[in-house]
Amino acid sequence: MSYDLKNWVREVADYPESGISFKDLTPILAHPPVFRSAVDWYVQCVEKSDADVIAAIDARGFIFASPVAYKLGLPLVLIRKTGKLPPEVVRVQYSLEYGGDTGMEMRDDAVSPGQKVVIVDDLLATGGTGAAAMQLIERLGGVVIAHVFLIELAYLSGREHLQSQDPTCIIHSNVVYE
Ligand code: AMP
Repeated sequence: MSYDLKNWVREVADYPESGISFKDLTPILAHPPVFRSAVDWYVQCVEKSDADVIAAIDARGFIFASPVAYKLGLPLVLIRKTGKLPPEVVRVQYSLEYGGDTGMEMRDDAVSPGQKVVIVDDLLATGGTGAAAMQLIERLGGVVIAHVFLIELAYLSGREHLQSQDPTCIIHSNVVYE
């Protein structure tokens, strides 16, 4: 059974900062049939893409990417906040919708040259996180063929940001806030 996932996203005004509408996914996780429906949707998107590798973004991307990798039998690589992975890593700095500048890292052998990679995260806001993840993967010679987000905040133009970096990259989202 598939659910209208928007009904299971809790919107929290002015969190964690004034002016931010935080999208809380924990109601999805707390209801097994709804979580299954969300994971099934991710599986369908990744399946279509003919990926060699799934790259999951710290931390909520991990929740969804893991069952998809299990289901499809694909390697799962982690893109983590700075300081969480042991050496050797590749690193990139970028800016967040809220919270200023930050960094992310991945193992320097996580992706091989020419591998097709799908990036999985929970939410697309400005696209800064997704664009930084693309840079890391491309630095290792990987080819990002798609991004999959449960939620897209279209008013922040993250899709345009990602497409400006690579117009051929496919962007999937399920729940869109205009
Ligand atoms: P961005 O780099 O601006 O596209 O932000 C995307 C990342 O920040 C995702 O990993 C989200 O988990 C988190 N994020 C940004 N904005 C929100 C929001 N309004 N509600 C929940 N999570 C958010």
